[in-house]
Amino acid sequence: MTAYDDAVADRLQAVRDRIARAGGSDVDVLPVTKSFPIEACWAAYHAGCAAVGENYAQEVVAKFAAAPLPFAVHFIGQLQTNKVKMLAPVVSLYGAVDRVALVQELAKRAPGARVLVQVAAVAAEGESEVGKAGCALVDVPALVEAATAVGLRVEGLMAVGPTRGGPQAARATFRAVRALVSRLGLATCSMGMSEDLEVAVEEGTTQVRIGTALFGERPHLGSALR
Ligand SMILES: *Cc1c(COP(=O)(O)O)cnc(C)c1O
Repeated sequence: MTAYDDAVADRLQAVRDRIARAGGSDVDVLPVTKSFPIEACWAAYHAGCAAVGENYAQEVVAKFAAAPLPFAVHFIGQLQTNKVKMLAPVVSLYGAVDRVALVQELAKRAPGARVLVQVAAVAAEGESEVGKAGCALVDVPALVEAATAVGLRVEGLMAVGPTRGGPQAARATFRAVRALVSRLGLATCSMGMSEDLEVAVEEGTTQVRIGTALFGERPHLGSALR
């Protein structure tokens, strides 16, 4: 254990304390290590985390080339279909599946893969945010069905709150997503990040995805790795 490992372990405990204070029990913490060096992944692993979340395909390939790893890599970023092939050897869960074309490519290049369907944020007016990542709420059941039909294992749904309005603005999205997870009988409800994890816990998240609160401000990542 390095001093850095200790610092990350302390921050993880602080995140767990926040979850407990918000009334959460049994909430999984996925450390989000995008744009941090691999030491961040090791620190999370040494602190007891079984998986890390990453967003950029080139970065994943560069960072984890020396597989096998003792921890799992979840790809939680927006994913172009032409990047699936290079990710398949490393990634064990695709956490932001939002369209049929991606489902089809995953079925081909990563048969049977574990996936979460990403739900587009709901703005305060109750409409899905236009032009944002994710599948509109009303279209989610059909996408889940399409993914299941081609053999993907849909474990749940994931969402990111709207860009504007702060943590409370995420509540409408989180509530709608939680209700849909329950209605569809899925296990995983991945919602809540460093800034809004309390709201997510109050609305029944099963997994928060935490970057900044564990590792600090993200360094700028060169465009070559995105
Ligand atoms: C970067 C990212 C996170 C972590 O965000 P923080 O605010 O740093 O905790 C969570 N989820 C997704 C999809 C992300 O891209």
